[in-house]
Amino acid sequence: MKITKITETALRDAHQSLMATRMRTRDMLPVVEELDKIGFFSLEAWGGATFDVGIRYLNEDPWERLRAIKEHLTKTPLQMLIRGQNLVGYKHYPDDIVEKFVEKSYENGVDIFRVFDALNDVRNMEKTIKTAKAQGAHVQGTISYTTSPVHTLENFVKLAKDLEELECDSVNIKDMAGLIYPVDIYKLVKMLKEETDLLISLHSHSTSGMTPISYYTACEAGVDVLDTAISPLSWGASQPPTESIVAALKGTPYDTKLDLKLLSNIKKYFIDIREKYAGLIDPISEKVDTDVLLYQLPGGMLSNLVSQLKEQNALDRYHDVLEEMPRVRKDLGYPPLVTPTSQIVGIQAVMNVLNGERYKIVSNEVKDYIKGFYGRPPAQINPKIAKMIIGDENTIDSRPADLLKPQYEHYKAEGIKKGIIKKDEDILTLAIYPAIATKFLSGEMKEEELLSPKQIVNNTNELEIPTEYSVEVDGDVFDVKIMPTGYLNIEEGQRSPKGDVEGGVSSTMQGMLLKLKVAIGDKVKKGDILAIIEAMKMENDIETSVDGVVENIFVTEGDSINAGDILMVIK
Ligand code: MN
Repeated sequence: MKITKITETALRDAHQSLMATRMRTRDMLPVVEELDKIGFFSLEAWGGATFDVGIRYLNEDPWERLRAIKEHLTKTPLQMLIRGQNLVGYKHYPDDIVEKFVEKSYENGVDIFRVFDALNDVRNMEKTIKTAKAQGAHVQGTISYTTSPVHTLENFVKLAKDLEELECDSVNIKDMAGLIYPVDIYKLVKMLKEETDLLISLHSHSTSGMTPISYYTACEAGVDVLDTAISPLSWGASQPPTESIVAALKGTPYDTKLDLKLLSNIKKYFIDIREKYAGLIDPISEKVDTDVLLYQLPGGMLSNLVSQLKEQNALDRYHDVLEEMPRVRKDLGYPPLVTPTSQIVGIQAVMNVLNGERYKIVSNEVKDYIKGFYGRPPAQINPKIAKMIIGDENTIDSRPADLLKPQYEHYKAEGIKKGIIKKDEDILTLAIYPAIATKFLSGEMKEEELLSPKQIVNNTNELEIPTEYSVEVDGDVFDVKIMPTGYLNIEEGQRSPKGDVEGGVSSTMQGMLLKLKVAIGDKVKKGDILAIIEAMKMENDIETSVDGVVENIFVTEGDSINAGDILMVIK
C-alpha cells in the first residue's frame, strides 16, 4: 500500500488565490509549529506573488518572512514556487541574477524549488533547475497544464522527460486554472509513471468543482503528492480542503495517514484568519464556475482580475473580458495562462474591451512576447495581429536570457549609491523590482490598509466627508482610507474635472508612474513616448498625440496615478 503525500498551500497559493496574497507574516508565524507537526510532504510558503505583494503592499521584507517561517520548522520541507528565469517577477532576468537569487533562497530556507515556465519552454527553466540542484535542494520541474488544439498528453510527457534529463527530483502537474478532467489526469499520471522515474505531484484549484474527483483518479493512477489547502482557505479559486482529501482517502490504498485531529487545530486558527481578511475575499473567487473550462483563467488571476477591474472601475465588464480572453490567447499562440502570460493575455483582453477596439493599446509586454522575448509559444502567433502590433521589428528564436547582460554588479553599485542596501538579498530585491524596491528599501512604503471592497464601492465622490479612518479588527488597528471611485467614465474616455486642462496629457488608466521620458522644455513629436505607466503589472507607454513643447510636469516617478490624472502639459 502506498501513502499519498500532501503539500499544504495555506501560506502561499491559498491566500494568493482567495485574498490577493495579502496574508501578513505575523498572521502566519503563530501556526507554523502546528503545521510542522502534521507530516506534510512540504509546506508551500514562499514565491509566486508573495514576494511582489510583500514589498508593494505590505511593507514586508520577503526574505525576513522566509527566514522567520524556516525558524519555526523542524522537519517539514519549505517549498517555494519559482517562475524559472522570471524568478518571482514578470520578466526574464539575466543568469547572474537567477544564480544569486536561487542561492540566497536556498541559504535562507527553501528546501524544495517548484520551477515552472509559462510557455513550458525548458530553456527558461534550465538555469534555475541547475542552480538549485547545485545547492543540494529538491527540484521539482513543472508541467504548466493547459488545453488547446495544440496541447497533447504526449507533449506533456515529453516535457517531463526533458525535466528528468535535467535531474529534477520530481515533476509537478500544475493545473493552475483547475480545469483538468478526472479522465485526463488519470491518463497523464499513468503515462508519466510508465515513462519516467519521477515522483509525481499534482497541483490544482477547485474552481471547476471537479477537482476532488480528479485528485482521486490521480491517486488511482499512482500520483505521489497532492496540493491541498486547510479548509478555511480552500475551495473556490483555491485548492481542495486538506481535511476532506485526508478523510476521503482513509481506508483506501492511497491513505495519507495524516491525523484529522491535529489538522483540526490548524483549521481553528485559520477560521480566525479568514474572518480577519474577509473583506478581501471577492464572492466571485469563492464560487464554483465551470466557465473556467472555457476561459482557462488560473485561480490567482481570477481574484486579481476582479480587483484590477475594480481599480479601473469596470467590474461590470467582467464577463466581456472573460469572453475576450480565449480570443487573445488564440491570437498569441495558445500560451498556458499562468504568470506572466495570464497577466499579459488577461490585461490585453481588459484593454481590448475597455478601449472598444482590439489591440488599440498594447502593453510593452505583449510586444516583447510577440518578439520572442518570453520564449517559444506553443503555436504560431496570428501573423496579422503580430504585424499590426510590432510591424517589421525583428523577432528572436534563441533562449531569451542569452541576450541579457549580467546585472548584479550594476544593481549592487546602484543600491549602495542610494544607501538602501543592508544585506546581499536587498540587491536581488532591487534587481527584480527596481522601482518598487527603491521605495521599499528606503523605508518610504507604508503597510497597505486592510480595505474592504464594500467600503470602496459604497463611497462615490463625497470629498467633504473624512476619508481616513482607523479601524480596529481583533485588537489590530488598521488605518483605512476611503477613496472616491465615481468619477471614472469609460464611455466618455476623458472624465474628471481635472481632465480639462488645455494641452494636458492624461493617463487612461490607474497605475504607477514607472518612468518619465521627457523633462520640462523638451520638444516632442506626435507619437513620442512621454512616460511609462505600470498598470495591472504591465508597462504601458503614454504617447503624445500632438507636436509641441513640454510646458509643465505634475508627476514624478513612483507616483500613483488615477485614470484621468493630468501628467503634464504640452503646448
Ligand atoms: Mn496555483
